[in-house]
Amino acid sequence: MDKKVYIETLGCQMNKSDAERMFGMLGYMGYEKTTEPRKADLLIINTCSIRQLSEDKAYSQIGVWGKWKKNRPNIKIGFSGCVAQQVKENLFKRAPYVDFVIGTQRLYELPEIVKRVENGERVCSCDEKPYTEKDYKIERVKSINAWIPIMEGCNNFCSYCIVPYTRGRERSRDFKNIMTEVKNALKEGFKEVTLLGQNVDSYHGKGGNGEDVNLSGLLKAINALEDYGKFRVRFVTSYPTDITDELIDTVLECDKVCEYFHIPMQSGDDEVLKKMNRRYDVAAYTKICNHIRSRVKDVTITSDFIAGFPGETEEQFQHTLDEMKKLELDYSNTAAYSPRERTVAAKWKDKFIPDDVKTERLARLNETNRECCVMSNKKYIGREMEVLVEKFENHNGTNVISGRTRNNKMVHIPCERDLTGEFVNVKIVGAMTWYLKGEMID
Ligand code: SF4
Repeated sequence: MDKKVYIETLGCQMNKSDAERMFGMLGYMGYEKTTEPRKADLLIINTCSIRQLSEDKAYSQIGVWGKWKKNRPNIKIGFSGCVAQQVKENLFKRAPYVDFVIGTQRLYELPEIVKRVENGERVCSCDEKPYTEKDYKIERVKSINAWIPIMEGCNNFCSYCIVPYTRGRERSRDFKNIMTEVKNALKEGFKEVTLLGQNVDSYHGKGGNGEDVNLSGLLKAINALEDYGKFRVRFVTSYPTDITDELIDTVLECDKVCEYFHIPMQSGDDEVLKKMNRRYDVAAYTKICNHIRSRVKDVTITSDFIAGFPGETEEQFQHTLDEMKKLELDYSNTAAYSPRERTVAAKWKDKFIPDDVKTERLARLNETNRECCVMSNKKYIGREMEVLVEKFENHNGTNVISGRTRNNKMVHIPCERDLTGEFVNVKIVGAMTWYLKGEMID
């Protein structure tokens, strides 16, 4: 291989998974992966548009690369991901040194696009018609967990969210392709697979005999895989009202499927939820959490929240803090509202909350999140749990292994041996905010 490619990935796990696919396709074309952008012949920025900050970062990065091109005119620059899907060929006006723009649904067209670019063409491919999936090897980031997208896009159109515009309408991947990918990841030595989708519960594929397969069916099929040793299965992200009893039964029945649900609530106020175009109210969300907890022992439920949605009053925000505590959520991702062009809420400029208020609300949201995490972690002191080891590190002179329990709790355990990739039994002896302290059981 004499050509090198560098991909800078911003944003979510879906983007990271796309990057692993791009590296695979480019490897097939003779490009070697490099972590040093200065040495690359091909530079790609895999963009995220969930917040303005990420979008700004993408533009500033290509600005830097554009300057490099003045001295090295042969380097090629590509722009992919969610911002690419939105900006399309308009990017060439703003950044004339960019050689190609590839939209989220055209990922598998990358080899053809790069070939054309190598021949001196400038290419934009951002059709919303998904390009047929190809069977390239995936260059996964070395880790314990393999992220496997099972569906993409979203039909929900929450009023703040850009995803339906950047990732398109909901599409489920072929069941057979997913199963092949899972088996390949396990053969490569991954000990955990996480099925990924914007609304993973809406998965609908076709099995080998043409029968319908939903998320439960897919989980059962993966759980039934033998000859791959011990492994775990997770799935994210769930839309609250799409969680069915069948799915909960599947989590209970399948020994490899972990007791973990990520269910974004976004706000703890009914009025705000309505304006967000979420299809549930606080009572419905509470019922789902209670139902899952009543059936799945030691389940972890995590969530997402937005602070300072347009028009959100102090009282409404307080409801969010109250609900977070009442629901005893184990952990939440938090963010201040960031207007995204084309979305409905971005038009409500007169209702925008000033930045300083948003920042202050976010700080309070984070504080409540911290309290919830400590409370959740304390429940496990004295318990014995199984940990899948992800890392071996030295923390201030002490060798420590760290990994996750089945219910997604991070545990740090003093240990002199590197047990990465192994399942170990530990006793929980302490609870910090973001992790548990454990001791090896002999
Ligand atoms: S469910 Fe809502 S927040 Fe989630 S991806 Fe779809 S539109 Fe965005």
